[in-house]
Amino acid sequence: MQKGTISVQTENILPIIKKYLYSDQEIFLRELVSNAVDATQKLRTLANRGEEVGEIGDTTIQVMVNKDAGTITISDRGLGMSHEEVEKYITQVAFSGAKEFLEKYKDTTNMIGHFGLGFYSAFMVADKVEIVSKSYKTDAPAVQWVSDGGVEYEIGETDARNERGTDIILHISKDADMYLEDHKIEELLTKYCRFLPVPIQFGETNQTETIEPTEEGQEPTEVTTTVPHIINDTRPLWMRPPSDNTDADYLSFYRQMYPMGEDPLFWIHLNVDYPFNLTGVLYFPKINNKFEVKKDRIHLYCNQVFVTDHVENIVPEFLMLLHGVIDSPDIPLNVSRSYLQSDPEVKKINKYITRKVADKLEELFKTQREDFEQKWQDIGLLIKYGVLTDDKFAERADKFTLVGNTNDKYFTLSEYLEHVKPNQTDKNNKITCLYTTDEIEQHAYVVAAQNKDYDVLKMGDPIDAHYMQHVEHKHTDVHFKRVDADTPDLLIEKDETTDSVLSDDERGKVHDLFAAAINAPAQYLELKALSPNDAPVTITKPEFMRRMKEMSRLSGGMDWYKDMPDSHQIVVNTNHAAIAKLLHANGDAQQIAKNLYDLALLQQNMLKGADLTDFINRTVGLMGK
Ligand code: ADP
Ligand code: MG
Repeated sequence: MQKGTISVQTENILPIIKKYLYSDQEIFLRELVSNAVDATQKLRTLANRGEEVGEIGDTTIQVMVNKDAGTITISDRGLGMSHEEVEKYITQVAFSGAKEFLEKYKDTTNMIGHFGLGFYSAFMVADKVEIVSKSYKTDAPAVQWVSDGGVEYEIGETDARNERGTDIILHISKDADMYLEDHKIEELLTKYCRFLPVPIQFGETNQTETIEPTEEGQEPTEVTTTVPHIINDTRPLWMRPPSDNTDADYLSFYRQMYPMGEDPLFWIHLNVDYPFNLTGVLYFPKINNKFEVKKDRIHLYCNQVFVTDHVENIVPEFLMLLHGVIDSPDIPLNVSRSYLQSDPEVKKINKYITRKVADKLEELFKTQREDFEQKWQDIGLLIKYGVLTDDKFAERADKFTLVGNTNDKYFTLSEYLEHVKPNQTDKNNKITCLYTTDEIEQHAYVVAAQNKDYDVLKMGDPIDAHYMQHVEHKHTDVHFKRVDADTPDLLIEKDETTDSVLSDDERGKVHDLFAAAINAPAQYLELKALSPNDAPVTITKPEFMRRMKEMSRLSGGMDWYKDMPDSHQIVVNTNHAAIAKLLHANGDAQQIAKNLYDLALLQQNMLKGADLTDFINRTVGLMGK
């Protein structure tokens, strides 16, 4: 063996590696297997170019753990390295890579493979690394290189290998002995190497085959054989042209990637090679309207090598709810996250993904509207979130963002505005859209609005409040009002007024009666001459205050509004027969007034506890008279 010294200013490669990559120790396997894949693909490229490489043969990469010897071996049948090449590629290039790395990026992880440092990640888990390699080019004996990560290494001839290719042998250090467990290596291979383009074998596995009997009356026999355990799918779905994949392929890929999930609603195959390279499949999962933001569902690959499942910044925020795979050699993995946000390449990718998603949604809406409406429950949340957070998407999404009414009919916003315009335009020429946040709680109000032939939208999700604000912002001639924001007559203010059937004097009496009966601050009590068909007493919650309170509760800000009491108005309909009757009720007038008020509270689900008991006792009392 001959001795050499690595020519580099840095004393020792180990501290660098350990300092910057310790947290990501396990990537050593990804790096070494990737190198084996690269070597195999280079060999094929050479062969395709007509270079003399001999017989290619079986190029399956072997990963082997020898617990007794304390080693992990990664063995490939790629192009191999000569003595000179080991010196050149392993020592010189790698170490200049280390210098470059140190100078440029001090605060980052995950860049190792991009600085010609991938090989040296081996030293995160090994205190000695051996290379045994034989180049496809020469008949010279194999070369052996041994290093403990210091500046000195040994290199020389060996007869440990007589076929083309490379073995990387890691002598695992004491504190990394968990990597000598088969299940750990299997886990890492599955995580990082599952879709690499060259078969990777890790041990063997049993395969059982059923052999049908040749003669009638015989039982079928089962034969178990041992076969190589291949970790990876070398041609994953996203790398194949979309036309080669069936729906069943997309579904089975999804189930393989997300075994715990329900089947997805639909998917988008991404495939672009200019101005950047990107392939992938994005799935719309069933979200079931639970606002579960799991931000680790899209997996990022670089040439089929798993990189990360933290795709913030690469995928637009609102699409983080999607599942699937993105594969791109053009995403700069060697830079910090804050930098990623402003990277022009990443911005382009971001825009492309947004556009593709909008295209797909628009196509689905146009060609399969019924189906799209059925899926709205599951996709609406994501789309509205996109509309609220991404202007570009919002522009596109106008065409397919739906609102649904209490009759379960769906409209696009412009369809809806057309639909309600004739009957729901108020005297200021504003279109009033009515909505309910809870059809059961607000039932009486919904019915009252419907009796006026008004349409009522369902806006029960927290995001709907933001969505309505967004619409009001964009369409200044549109405003939204919850069904209990006013008495039915005033929900949509029109020019028509109803004459009062009571005289001013009588109105004064009614006012005093209620003021005494309900014990509420005078400013909350209003007398109005409404339609005789409207309720005698109604509790309303003015839109503006209620909204401010809700918004502040949602956003956690503006405590001032949050602490305001639940403000509501008490509206007495002086045109209702029950109110006229009150004037002649003599001794029971106050009790009846109180009862009418309690009924209104009941309708709003606001009558509770002792007040409810009082109400029941009072009613029973009145009925007994
Ligand atoms: P990179 O893969 O980014 O070039 P690495 O540090 O991972 O950086 O590897 C350095 C170089 O060593 C490779 O470019 C390649 O020339 C050589 N090399 C590493 N592993 C192998 C292998 N298994 N077979 C052939 N050459 C290899
Ligand atoms: Mg590499």
